[in-house]
Amino acid sequence: MKEATNKIGFRPTWAEINLTNLTHNFKQLKKLFSPEIKMMVCVKADAYGHGLITTSTKLAALGVDYLAVASIDEGISLRQNYIKVPVLVLGMILEDHIRPLFKYNLIPAVPSESLALALNKEACRKGKPVKVHLKIDTGMGRLGVLAKNAPSFIKKINKLKFIDIEGIFTHLACADSNMYVTSDQIRIFNRLITELNKEKINIKLIHAANSMGVIGYKKSHFNMVRPGLAIYGLYPKQGLKIKLKPVLSLKTRVVYSKRVPCGYGISYGHTYKTSKASTILTLPIGYGDGYPRILSNKAPVLIRGRRYKVSGRVCMDHIMVDVGNHKFPIGEEVVLIGSQGKEKISAAELAYLGNTISYEIVCGIGSRVPRIYSN
Ligand SMILES: *Cc1c(COP(=O)(O)O)cnc(C)c1O
Repeated sequence: MKEATNKIGFRPTWAEINLTNLTHNFKQLKKLFSPEIKMMVCVKADAYGHGLITTSTKLAALGVDYLAVASIDEGISLRQNYIKVPVLVLGMILEDHIRPLFKYNLIPAVPSESLALALNKEACRKGKPVKVHLKIDTGMGRLGVLAKNAPSFIKKINKLKFIDIEGIFTHLACADSNMYVTSDQIRIFNRLITELNKEKINIKLIHAANSMGVIGYKKSHFNMVRPGLAIYGLYPKQGLKIKLKPVLSLKTRVVYSKRVPCGYGISYGHTYKTSKASTILTLPIGYGDGYPRILSNKAPVLIRGRRYKVSGRVCMDHIMVDVGNHKFPIGEEVVLIGSQGKEKISAAELAYLGNTISYEIVCGIGSRVPRIYSN
C-alpha cells in the first residue's frame, strides 16, 4: 500500500495501465495479418493517454517494428528514454526544424517537395542519405500529396541523391463509417503502387491501415499496418468480432461524504436536486483532469460493483455522486473507467454520453492523473 501511495501522490485519483492487456491486444492484432507484414504502432499523444515511455518500452519488448509519433518532440522523448525502435514522425515538420531528425534518428513523413529538398540539402551536408516515408492523400484531405499528383512528385523525390524513400503511406478517412470511400482509397493507393512498380520504383514499406483497416480491410494491409486505438484495447467501432482488452482504467476514492436534505441543490447551477434525504459523495476528479464536463448528470461510476451517477455539474477538481441511503467509508475506491465486480464502464460508454469518441476520452486524461502500471 505504501508503494502505491508514493506513486499516486496525495490526491487519490489515478489511471491504471494494464500492460498484460496491452500484450494481449498486440497478439490479437498480429493474428489478423501474415507474419511477413510489419507492424507500426501509433504512440502519439502520450500513447493515447496511456503514457508514452512505458507503453513504448513494452511495445519494443514485444517486438514492434516501428513506432509512430505526431511530433519531433515526442520522438526525442522516445530516444532520450533509450527506445531504439525506428520512429516515424507523422506530423508536418517545418523546414526550420529538420535538424533534430538527424540528431535523434527519426524518420519524417514527407508530404511536400519543399520539405524533401530541405531534407536532401541537410543530408548532403551530413554526407549520409536520410530515410523518409512519402505521404499520399487518397481522400483524407489532410497531409499528403494528392494521388493524381503523386507519380510526378515521387519521381522528383526519387532523383534526390540524399533521400532514401523507405516508405510510402496514406491514411483512411472513413474506415469505421463508409466501405465505399474506404475501398476507393485502397484502390487509388494500389493503383499508384502498381504504377510506380512499372516505373521500377519499388518502395520497401507500404502502409495504410489504421485499427479499423487492420480489423476490417485485409486489402489495406499492404506490407505494414499502423494501428493505434485497438492496441489500447478500444474498438474503432461497435460490433467487431475481435476480442480486445481495455488497457486503461480510471479510478478515484471517496474523499468526503455527507447527508443532505430532500430538494438540496448539488454543484454549480444546481442542475441536480436530491429527490429525498441523501448521502452525497465527493470525489477528487474533474474537468481539470480531463473528465469531461459534458458528463455532468450523465456518467455512471462504480462503487462496490454497483452503478451510480454523477450528480450535478462536473467541477474542475471534483464530482459529486448521490448514493441515496447507501453508506461508504472515506477512502472507498470508485471506478470511472474500468470494471468492478460484474459491472463495467468503457471509454466508449463515456464517449457516447459525451457525444465524442473513445480516442478523445483516453487522450484527454490529463497529466495531473498519475499512470500506475501493472504487468
Ligand atoms: C493516429 C493515426 C493512426 C492510427 O489510427 P487508429 O484509428 O488509432 O488505429 C494511423 N495513421 C495515422 C496517420 C494516424 O494519425
